[in-house]
Amino acid sequence: MDRMAVVKVGAAASASVCVLVGGLALTQYVVAKKKRAGKKTKIIEMMPQFEKPTVHMRDPERVEQIICGLIKGGASKLQIITDFDMTISKFAINGKRCPTCHNIIDNCKLVTEECRQKLLQLKHKYYPIEIDPHLTMEEKFPFMVEWYFKSHSLLVEQRLEKDKLPEVVRESDVALREGYEQFFDCLHQHNVPVFIFSAGLGDVLEEIMRQSAVYHPNIKVVSNFMDFDDNGVLKGFKGELIHVYNKHDGALRNTEYFKQLRDNSNIILLGDSMGDLSMADGVPNVENLLKIGFLNDKVEERLDKYLDSYDIVLVKDETLEVPNAILQKVL
Ligand code: C5P
Ligand code: MG
Repeated sequence: MDRMAVVKVGAAASASVCVLVGGLALTQYVVAKKKRAGKKTKIIEMMPQFEKPTVHMRDPERVEQIICGLIKGGASKLQIITDFDMTISKFAINGKRCPTCHNIIDNCKLVTEECRQKLLQLKHKYYPIEIDPHLTMEEKFPFMVEWYFKSHSLLVEQRLEKDKLPEVVRESDVALREGYEQFFDCLHQHNVPVFIFSAGLGDVLEEIMRQSAVYHPNIKVVSNFMDFDDNGVLKGFKGELIHVYNKHDGALRNTEYFKQLRDNSNIILLGDSMGDLSMADGVPNVENLLKIGFLNDKVEERLDKYLDSYDIVLVKDETLEVPNAILQKVL
């Protein structure tokens, strides 16, 4: 064989070795990746609730790690930060929408038909903006301020009476998510602080919690509270407005609360809006933060974004089964 031929044979041989080695490595990589993808992480594997088709996670291994951190810390390190409307309360029952705190008032007998129509028109204009997958939170912000300003002004015009709120809540179609008793009772039993941070109506929210017999002393509610005159007639709202997309500012106004809970560095955050993700912004030291998001509406359009932001996304899941399963492991 001349020199040229030797070089050619050598090149061909090393090329085949490369192909072989490369192929082998690729096969190993694919097998490993498949194994990883199919691998069920231990804690999650122990919770059958995670098998439900409503449960979505971008990174189950990260969820596993956070839950492990929560379990290690136990009850003494845990705190809950949660939204209320459409997170603690149900979004729909058999396809029929359930009311938010505001909707309970919108639809009650204390409000005139004319006012109800105006409130409904506002909802039809602004709710689609609230959940629009193509607008940023900054773009939605001024529209939310407008919605709250207009709807709250209408409620003040109606001269609502404080005494009538329990009856109005009792007569409404509001419902809390399946498993709410277990959720709140077990958090109470283990003395875990619960911060309910709602852009709804605080007075209505508290009444719902009381009537559901879960307004335990470990719960603090931050929301829009009504201001009544000496005769118990609505004259305005107390404090700074909390709307769906300014929870960051509200969170920072509550740093005193969170400072007292300095040692509760493990957090389970529950929400249904992208705005709820900033509810834990006032917490000074965070060790483990598990974000659970309920995706109720515009599911296809928003799933990707929710998966990017929430660790666990519960799609059209009207229960608290997953949070309860995690709490059972942690407490
Ligand atoms: O508790 P949460 O922060 O979720 O409360 C905000 C909810 O109140 C939003 O889902 C929003 O759609 C609803 N809302 C309403 N009527 C208004 C203002 C807000 O139903 N006038
Ligand atoms: Mg909500």
